[in-house]
Amino acid sequence: MQSLTIRRPDDWHLHLRDGAMLRGVIADTSRHFARAIVMPNLVPPVVTTVDARDYRNRILDALPEGHSFEPLMTLYLTEETNPDDVEEGKRSGLITAVKLYPAGATTNSASGVRNLDKVMPVLERMAKIGLPLCVHGEVTTPEVDIFDREAVFIETVLDPLRRRLPELKVTMEHVTTSDGVDYIRSSAANLAGSITTHHLIINRNAILVGGIRPHYYCLPVAKRESHRLALRAAATSGDPRFFLGTDSAPHVDPAKECACGCAGIYCAPNTMSCLAHVFEQEGALDKLEAFVSLNGPAWYGLPPNETRITLVKRAAPVQFPKKIETGAGSVTVFDPMFPIYWDVE
Ligand SMILES: [Zn+2]
Repeated sequence: MQSLTIRRPDDWHLHLRDGAMLRGVIADTSRHFARAIVMPNLVPPVVTTVDARDYRNRILDALPEGHSFEPLMTLYLTEETNPDDVEEGKRSGLITAVKLYPAGATTNSASGVRNLDKVMPVLERMAKIGLPLCVHGEVTTPEVDIFDREAVFIETVLDPLRRRLPELKVTMEHVTTSDGVDYIRSSAANLAGSITTHHLIINRNAILVGGIRPHYYCLPVAKRESHRLALRAAATSGDPRFFLGTDSAPHVDPAKECACGCAGIYCAPNTMSCLAHVFEQEGALDKLEAFVSLNGPAWYGLPPNETRITLVKRAAPVQFPKKIETGAGSVTVFDPMFPIYWDVE
């Protein structure tokens, strides 16, 4: 039997939602992960430090007995965000990052930023105090093809912003293209990228071939195979600029299986098993710890976790539930479409 012991991982991009959904999904993350950067796109969004403190308390209240888990809170950047409030959030230790959603880019992003000029005072303050900006890197202008949104964002928004404010630390979240990988690799400083579990496993065929499969639909949408291969190369390279952000994003099944289904893949329950499979396939199991447990803390200026988890390779495929039941309804679990032999002990 093969086994691998690594420092306990962290998830640098996670959706926990709220209320009954939060209570239904939190254990799937806190079982394996010590910390997670929690996305602020609730309805209404988490925009002030007061909102973030309240949300953090609700997350801690929802934790199962015996689980220790640290939610790392983010603020949803709007054109009304107050730089003083952001600084206070950072100073008190409550806020780990601020999240930029271009308006309309993904689930609950209607309050996002339309004009970057309006948020420059906040971004300048963040650069000054060393608070990272997490970016959903897609343009939302209707003339841009959805598969090109990331590349166009880099060229027309991200690169100009980084030239204007090179001191700002930027996390390009859920990188989905070779353009994103190349852009991060080419930067000298202050840029890193998170990669999801599912973008290492599926390409766009998973959504569209043989019938439309809403449970593989997420944003940014999965791209063609060459991009998936570029992501796998980056994730398994050990390059400290790449780390895990699962973007695990639960929606109840009726919200996915309908005429206009929501974007999001729920991969929290089997992420570590899927990743061990991917890294083994790439001959890079020795790089898994860097990707899930070391590179992220180093980027965010936090110590790596002291506790450890052990992954074991079983003789027979591990069975994961197809769905979980939450108080809000059933949620379909990511199916990687291959048998998984790796299990967290
Ligand atoms: Zn997300």
